[in-house]
Amino acid sequence: MEKVEEDFYGLALTQIVELKTAKPELKEILDFYEAALKAQRQVKLSFQPDLNKLDIELCRKRSSKGLPFLKSSDIQIDLDLFDKLLEDIGRIIRSKKKEAIPVTLKRFSLDKQCALLLRDILEEGPALEKLACEMKADFRVFYFLVTQAFSPFLQSYAQKLREFVDLSSWLKGVCPICGTEPMIARLEEETGRRWLFCPLCHTEWLFKRLACPFCENDDHESLRYFFVENDQAHRIDVCDKCKRYIKTIDLRKTDNAMNLLVENLSTLALDIVADREGFRGGDVSLFREK
Ligand SMILES: [Zn+2]
Ligand SMILES: [Zn+2]
Repeated sequence: MEKVEEDFYGLALTQIVELKTAKPELKEILDFYEAALKAQRQVKLSFQPDLNKLDIELCRKRSSKGLPFLKSSDIQIDLDLFDKLLEDIGRIIRSKKKEAIPVTLKRFSLDKQCALLLRDILEEGPALEKLACEMKADFRVFYFLVTQAFSPFLQSYAQKLREFVDLSSWLKGVCPICGTEPMIARLEEETGRRWLFCPLCHTEWLFKRLACPFCENDDHESLRYFFVENDQAHRIDVCDKCKRYIKTIDLRKTDNAMNLLVENLSTLALDIVADREGFRGGDVSLFREK
């Protein structure tokens, strides 16, 4: 029997509409994400990864060695869909912040730069920075744009590959599927176990309760957390060693938790506080200072 795939973007979009009523002060940001998620959802619905081209055994071996399941070269992107999404999200960004991306983006995939860009995002490399510079684009905005354009493709792969990975024994600070740093965490309702969320492929994986996902520091003296405005369900976990933070939603303390992508938007006030205190979060976010 064909498994019914979860409609991650559909759920997020419904919750964003509800959130606009609950937090009207976030309307502008939520409008922006709503438009971007709609474009991403279209791509997600039109794209099916071809797993026959993937050497699953090789990926499993890689994973058992502690490396992410996928390498950028494993991923086949539909260039037309990618191109269109890049253009759509680019247009959405320009409608808010024209100066951030001064040049039209269409030629990327035609130039076969798509593979290079994906390699930069998953494994690091110079192409992304070089392109942003050539285009006189704001690097953070450009990075956000490109990651958002890849996200639905990675999500499609991850959805099919998660069954090959033991998400509760990986215990690393990066995504077991694509190797990206987490955006936000949740503490499980029953046990309080901590799950991290990948902003690119939307995988959730188990991580140690008392350790920093960014530098793996587990010295209790330099790890702490704080709340804002007495909201005990949402907290900021900080590491004094690497000066980074991650927001955490405690499901033991709330009944109306949302999809973690939407929780991340709902709690942008926490990012401002963490920033002010001198901590840095994950990289895939547009509405953060610096
Ligand atoms: Zn991932
Ligand atoms: Zn740390």
